[in-house]
Amino acid sequence: MKQLDLLYSGKAKSVYRTENPGELLIKFRDDITAFDGQKKDTLAEKGSLNAGVSTFFFGILEKNGIKTHLVRKIDDTSLIARNLNMIPLEVIVRNIAAGSLVKNYPVEKGTPLNPPVIVIDFKDDTHHDPMLNDDLIFALKLATPDELREMKRIALRVNDVLQEYLGRRGIDLVDFKLEFGKKDGVIYVGDEISMDSMRLWDKKTGESLDKDVYRTGQGDVITCYHRVAIRIIAEE
Ligand code: 5GP
Repeated sequence: MKQLDLLYSGKAKSVYRTENPGELLIKFRDDITAFDGQKKDTLAEKGSLNAGVSTFFFGILEKNGIKTHLVRKIDDTSLIARNLNMIPLEVIVRNIAAGSLVKNYPVEKGTPLNPPVIVIDFKDDTHHDPMLNDDLIFALKLATPDELREMKRIALRVNDVLQEYLGRRGIDLVDFKLEFGKKDGVIYVGDEISMDSMRLWDKKTGESLDKDVYRTGQGDVITCYHRVAIRIIAEE
């Protein structure tokens, strides 16, 4: 598959056209950012670690009947994905209070959220990804009621599948972010599911196994990503 011109370059991934208009090439770069891009670094192997875990999670979802954009992985850092019409929403599922929830609301870090809480942010860097509600999503024509219902349904299914899988590996799925896209009227999970887009805590020690290590400068993020990737991907 030939990598043609660059279509889009985000904070950690670049998207290229391919010879097949129905498919894109997504390259996971070694860049890492936090705090709206204010903290930035380039860390060797970060791209391949996130590409590997993301591809692995998409595979698990597909096995569970959840449609994702993944077509196939082609090398350490790149995958071929369906060319979707992306919906500019960040659909976040929270099982345990952490991050912006704790910062913005009177809830203590570590409080279990049962049933899980879905929070939806507008993927719009110029406005710093503000939180939306259903009425705003419809007023801004970001999704129809049917599409929103379907995205929430899929997000909770993804949560069930990943929570169960990670739980068996001694990891709590605290929260994660999904992005969705449409093709021929069908909604697919797009973007990535990696240590950059989720919070993972070791069940025994409570240690962070995700991008919070970088956000808070708790230690070497690549060592952490390596360890967690092995725990996620290793055969049972
Ligand atoms: P929070 O709202 O607490 O900052 O984030 C909740 C969850 O969604 C975390 O797992 C976080 O990594 C993920 N998340 C939220 N916004 C973004 C984003 O813009 N990019 C990525 N990669 N993940 C995000």
